[in-house]
Amino acid sequence: MGVTSPTAVRHVQLALDLAALGWHVFPLSPSNKRPLANCLDCQNNPHCAADDYTGCICLPDGQWCHGVRAATTDPTRITTWWRRVPDAVPAVAAGPSGLVLIDLDTHATRPPRDPAAELLPGIDLAEEQVPGGYGSVRNGIDAMHLLARLRGGHHPWPAGPDHQPVSVRTPSGGRHLWYRAPDDHLHQALSALGWQIDIKAGWSYGIAPGAVTRAGTYAVHAGTPHAPGRMPDWLEREVRRVAGPKPAPPPAPVVPAAPGQSNAAGYVRAVLDNGTAELASLTDGRKAALGALAYKIGGLLPWADLTPADVEDHLVRAGLASGLIYRDARRIVQRSLTNGLAQPLPAPRDSHAT
Ligand SMILES: [Zn+2]
Ligand SMILES: [Zn+2]
Repeated sequence: MGVTSPTAVRHVQLALDLAALGWHVFPLSPSNKRPLANCLDCQNNPHCAADDYTGCICLPDGQWCHGVRAATTDPTRITTWWRRVPDAVPAVAAGPSGLVLIDLDTHATRPPRDPAAELLPGIDLAEEQVPGGYGSVRNGIDAMHLLARLRGGHHPWPAGPDHQPVSVRTPSGGRHLWYRAPDDHLHQALSALGWQIDIKAGWSYGIAPGAVTRAGTYAVHAGTPHAPGRMPDWLEREVRRVAGPKPAPPPAPVVPAAPGQSNAAGYVRAVLDNGTAELASLTDGRKAALGALAYKIGGLLPWADLTPADVEDHLVRAGLASGLIYRDARRIVQRSLTNGLAQPLPAPRDSHAT
């Protein structure tokens, strides 16, 4: 009979306790704090690769493949997962749990080169009074205090349980502030609220309050997961300012449509343009849509006598403009282009190509 470590006992119990409160949990690897790896089926399944899970057999089957997408409140599922990896670190999916996480880092990095523009992007600090000067802002906690002072007025943090987040001290000295999300869902975090201040909403996640990792404990020092408070109004406004609006559309495509150019390349360009516009209008399923678009374009490349290099940059920018992060957009585009290229499409009937 194996010996279960106290940490493992704590972790399955912590996951079950949070799940009972409606927090959607899933396991992270105890060694690198990343979601446990997908199975081989999922790695080879084009639906899963493009983050369109319609063809995934693991998610409906209760497997942990796809990390945050598998997050659940089902005690049976949770018990099964932690029986398999007892020292897995529980993480919480923000959006499905009705939560938003403000993540304040204290990385020992150099301060931004242009603090007036970069400490609180979107707020021109050259126009504001920064008490103590830029040098007083040494980390995300300081940046948050500055934001609170500039936007929150005299009492930026209302007293009382209504606005008390679950406040967690991270092993590196940072803070996690778990708030109840506004009723209308926030977009996935599109960018940072400030220097070393990240917003985790939608399909973003954070390590569960109370979890113990090899680096240390995520210790709750105020608030309770039973009743996370709402963000103060000023903070909600700031979060919406960053997480709400869409970024600007991408520049014109690289595929040229010069006179004399083949109709085929022009057709591909039109598919790119339409797909880009469609992507920009999506709030859900952007990864799947980008994957599908890149897959289709990949299939058209041989017919249009183009190479992936002709379209990759444009596709990645289309992904960025829809709110995806660069790493995800590039991965999806490269993989889907390659997959599409392996399945060449016949000349489209509406292309009028010669
Ligand atoms: Zn799988
Ligand atoms: Zn899958």
